[in-house]
Amino acid sequence: MKIRISTFDQDHQILEDVIDKRNIGIYDNSFNNKIIVKLLIDKSYKCWKIHGILETKIVLTCDRCLELFDLYLSPKIDIIISTDKVLEVDSENVIYFQPGTDEIDISENLRDYLLLSIPIKKNCTDECKGLCPSCGINLNKKSCKCHDDSIDPRWDNLKNLK
Ligand SMILES: [Zn+2]
Ligand SMILES: [Zn+2]
Repeated sequence: MKIRISTFDQDHQILEDVIDKRNIGIYDNSFNNKIIVKLLIDKSYKCWKIHGILETKIVLTCDRCLELFDLYLSPKIDIIISTDKVLEVDSENVIYFQPGTDEIDISENLRDYLLLSIPIKKNCTDECKGLCPSCGINLNKKSCKCHDDSIDPRWDNLKNLK
């Protein structure tokens, strides 16, 4: 996705778009819904501040029960584009450009915001009970007898060691 800065004369501008995942370099099959981007671009001295949000719904596999579930992602965006290299901002999200540049490509930044917003632990719900380690049944849907009566009496001695 490219921001055309040559047309940005106003102090601020609102940009809303629906983008294709391939246009920002995402080829992951989890992303199978439209990606909405809403940006507010503020012109400041020698730079533009881009604030906004990305919104999409992805499909993941639960780590515990292995069922598919939808996850809504809505990472906030903060990017600064600037011609001024001396700008002292401690951020990876500063894009420098030559004066006179017409378009700034922020695709890579948007891709990173989305991918980094996917949680490391992928659980369908916080309460997901997962699969029974003995019989493999999905404990969210059914219960099994494995835990009730499968405690082998030979383990009793081990328990006493504690
Ligand atoms: Zn689950
Ligand atoms: Zn079981």
